[in-house]
Parts: sequence; structure tokens; C-alpha cells
Amino acid sequence: MTLSTSNTIDFDSARLKLISEKKLSSVAIQREKAVKHMTVLGLQQRLTQQLQTSLELERVLDLFFTAVQEFMGLNSLEFHHDAHAVKVSKGVPSMHRCNYRMTHAGDFLGEIQFTRDKRFSEVQLQSLETLLGNLLYPLRNALMYRAALHSALNDSLTGIGNRLGLDQALTREVKFSSRHHTPLSLLVLDIDHFKQINDKYGHAYGDAALKAVVNCARSCLRDVDELFRMGGEEFVVVLSNTDNHAARFVAERIRCSIAQMQFEIDGDPIPMTASLGVATLKAEENNEGLLERGDKLMYVAKRAGRNRIAC
Ligand code: GH3
Ligand code: MG
Ligand code: MG
Repeated sequence: MTLSTSNTIDFDSARLKLISEKKLSSVAIQREKAVKHMTVLGLQQRLTQQLQTSLELERVLDLFFTAVQEFMGLNSLEFHHDAHAVKVSKGVPSMHRCNYRMTHAGDFLGEIQFTRDKRFSEVQLQSLETLLGNLLYPLRNALMYRAALHSALNDSLTGIGNRLGLDQALTREVKFSSRHHTPLSLLVLDIDHFKQINDKYGHAYGDAALKAVVNCARSCLRDVDELFRMGGEEFVVVLSNTDNHAARFVAERIRCSIAQMQFEIDGDPIPMTASLGVATLKAEENNEGLLERGDKLMYVAKRAGRNRIAC
């Protein structure tokens, strides 16, 4: 059996709620609450110091969970915020649950669930709500930081990584490949005659065509492969732990899928193709060298007639 307590906590009114709830039901609870209150105050001070040491959401929640876990014997914490595509789990879930939907000044800050082996008492729930008040600003800041990072590293039109994201990923992958002696390949993909779509149907349809190509390419990739928009209608796929033979296979699969894609504008089928360069990291080569080689090979494919790969 799963026992669940569900609450919505609006931090603007939480304090008022706590004050109004001081209509105590019994002397025993009064006493317990007084003792706990002292401890909660101590924990609040500790949390205030600890939670401001990081802007990383995972770290903030980890610090919060560790501190509160010791205090009231929690088994797990689970946080999720769908709009930020984030889900963080700590500990192992248990039978008794309580949930909070957190908002502040009209902003939704996510949902958090705590579990423990024993039932949550009323006093414990009140303490938890007080402590959640300390999570408020660090959580909001961490979400803002995450959103800022996301928009700095991702392309707003297609949602995939942008040039800065590509540079970071490639630097990381080249280092990893050199250190662990694993192969690393990349594909540079450029849509053929893309300007004609813009010229004939307008920029908005051109944007839709770009998104269609991104979805098509992504459907050909493994979860570990990374797709970036380098600029305009040029994309890069980073294939970690992939040698040249396997990379050629992936490039050919993407090329075929785009050529067979059913993209239509106002009922008109729009044939689309792409040219791809396939480059595999050489000894002593850096990320810029690898990218440059992939780009040159893509132009080799263009000159050879488009809708093909070059390696
Ligand atoms: P090629 O086969 O040689 O690659 O020809 P192409 O027409 O694809 O290449 P070209 O470089 O001549 O044109 C690229 C076009 O891509 C020009 C530019 O307006 C368009 N473009 C770049 N970024 C965007 C975008 O974000 N949205 C839309 N709709 N078009 C874009
Ligand atoms: Mg092009
Ligand atoms: Mg181009």
C-alpha cells in the first residue's frame, strides 16, 4: 500500500499559513514542536549557508536532501520540472509520501516529493514546509542558471546544440578520445540548394524544412550521438567511439533518410537532399583540424554532384 500526502506550497503565503497553523491541537504536539523548532532553526541556518554555494540544480537538491534526510529520516527526494525537462532523484523511494507543488510570485518552480518509512507527522510536515522555504531562492536561481545555459548552448529554431555547444562537445570528445585511445568521427552536413526553398516559398517554410531535416537526421542517430547546428543550413554530428567505417554507414543512412523524406509545402512535395563530409580524428589532430577536414570533405561531396557523402 502506498500512502500519499499531497500539498501545494506557494512560498508567498507559506509563512502566513505556518502562523495560522499555530493553533495547536495538543500540549504534546506543542512541546514536540518547540523542540523541533529549535532544530529546524539550526538546520535553516545551515541550509542558508550551504545552498548558496552552488548554482547547479543537482548539487542544490543534493545538499538539501542530505541535510533534511538526517533531520527527519527521509528515504528519498524526487524533483521534476517538465518545462525545464529536468528530473532529479535522490535516495530510494519508500511507502509514505508527501508532495509539494512549488510556486513563487506566480512562477512555477517544480514539484517535489519526499518519502520515508514512517508516516509524516503534522509537525514534520510543518518543519518540511519551513525548510522548503530555504530552498526557494537557491532553486529559483538554479533553474534560471539552467535556462541561461540552455539558451547559450542551443539553437532556438531547432532546439539542438548551437556552434558554442558544438565547440564545447568537440573539445571534450577530442580529449576523451586521445586519453582513452577510442575512435572519434564527425559528419558535416549541408542541405543542397536550400536557398531555392526560401526563395520559392519564403523564410517561414525554409525554417520548417530545417526542422524537418533535423528530425530526420536525429531519427538516424543513437542516444549518445550529438547533433549541432553549426550555422545556416549546415549541421555537425559528433559520433563518439565511432571509427571511419561506422561513421560512413551513419552518414549514408542520414543521406538516404533525407532523400526519402516526405516534406510538403501546401500539398507540394519538396524534394530535399544533403551532402555530407565524414572525418575521423587523426593522431595529434585537434578539434578545429577535425572540423575543418569534415567541412572540406562536405564541399568535396558538393562538387561531386551533391546528395552524396565524401570521406
Ligand atoms: P548548396 O547546395 O551549395 O549548399 O546551396 P544552398 O542554396 O543550400 O546554399 P547557400 O549557402 O547558397 O544558401 C543557404 C541559404 O540558407 C541562404 C540563407 O538564407 C538560408 N538560411 C540560413 N539560415 C537560415 C534560417 O535560419 N532559416 C531559413 N529559412 N533560411 C536560412
Ligand atoms: Mg546548402
Ligand atoms: Mg551552407
